[in-house]
Amino acid sequence: MVEKVENGLFGEFGGSYVPEDLQTVLEGLAEAFETYKDDPEFQEEFRYYLKEYVGRDNPLTFAQNLTQKIGSAKIYLKREDLNHTGAHKINNAIGQILLAKRMGATRVIAETGAGQHGVATATACAMFNIPCTIYMGKHDTERQALNVFRMELLGATVVPVEAGQGRLKDAVDAALGDLIENYQTTFYLLGSAVGPHPYPTMVKHFQSIISEESKLQILEKEGKLPTAVVACVGGGSNAIGAFANYIEEENVRLIGVEPKEAASITEGVPAIIHGFKCLTLLDEYGEPAPTHSIAAGLDYPGIGPEHSFLKTNGRAEYVTITGDDALEAFKELSQVEGIIPALESSHAIAYTIKLAKKLTKDDVIIVNLSGRGDKDVDQVFQMEKL
Ligand SMILES: *Cc1c(COP(=O)(O)O)cnc(C)c1O
Repeated sequence: MVEKVENGLFGEFGGSYVPEDLQTVLEGLAEAFETYKDDPEFQEEFRYYLKEYVGRDNPLTFAQNLTQKIGSAKIYLKREDLNHTGAHKINNAIGQILLAKRMGATRVIAETGAGQHGVATATACAMFNIPCTIYMGKHDTERQALNVFRMELLGATVVPVEAGQGRLKDAVDAALGDLIENYQTTFYLLGSAVGPHPYPTMVKHFQSIISEESKLQILEKEGKLPTAVVACVGGGSNAIGAFANYIEEENVRLIGVEPKEAASITEGVPAIIHGFKCLTLLDEYGEPAPTHSIAAGLDYPGIGPEHSFLKTNGRAEYVTITGDDALEAFKELSQVEGIIPALESSHAIAYTIKLAKKLTKDDVIIVNLSGRGDKDVDQVFQMEKL
């Protein structure tokens, strides 16, 4: 059912729509990735850092109180929130930085919106002692001053991008410009399952650890595969990692949860943005539309090409949750289980609660808890005061 990926194409989606000089750089990257991803030494090193630095395996926690309260399907939480730095992004950052080292890069660059990917990249660069430059829209640096400081504390140079609207898109453009100019020394560490080939494939590879673990864990705990796997979707990296090892298991429902306020898959149309084709929200001029989710990590107008493909071929389902419902789930999980989820993950929790009510006691749901909510406490505090 799932077609083989050729040249980074997932059906009509994905690919690489970039200027020729960038294309050459990306082909080199794709080649290096193909060479190293199955190399036993590379694998061993990746696993070593996941264990000793990130803290994997993380648990698949049975949410006993939430399950009991709903009185229906069993809910399990895949605890990416327990990783070092508090989310799944570090899995990918470690994988890509090991590749950067193999390729002889002496410098890493990245883009960041709210700062979460910038922080994960700066962390990995500190660990591997590689100089790091993070491009961030000027507007975003002002909104997220604390994250800028966090990245600087970790030794990164943060470059505020004044071009355009000073947002994520402008940061991506600046990072790509840097890469074209400095490709001989520089590795661009991209943060989600988006962008031109080979990034979506590469990010999926490194994030697949999530479902590799959860599948073993659920078989051990329940003796069967889950009814459904639920994950929130921004660019799509935690979701594709949470889905990866179940895609071939046709009886397992795969459910991606988007914010209603940035519903790229549910409401988007096929278009090319940031060098690849995906379902995306466009404004009246055909440009990527500004989005306004309460969860900064979900505020992206496009969506990874593989999700676009899984949506069109029907293998995965995509639903939306409003900011208000996510906020309610944020509080619910905190109070009932003593776990404060990231606002991004709260979208997945909110849908899981709805879904559990429709299923039976024989059903099992795995929800990917992509990150912890400590970073969001201040924001929710400010919102409550209004
Ligand atoms: C960045 C982020 C997301 C969204 O990114 P994906 O690539 O869609 O996974 C979700 N949850 C958390 C906690 C994040 O930091």
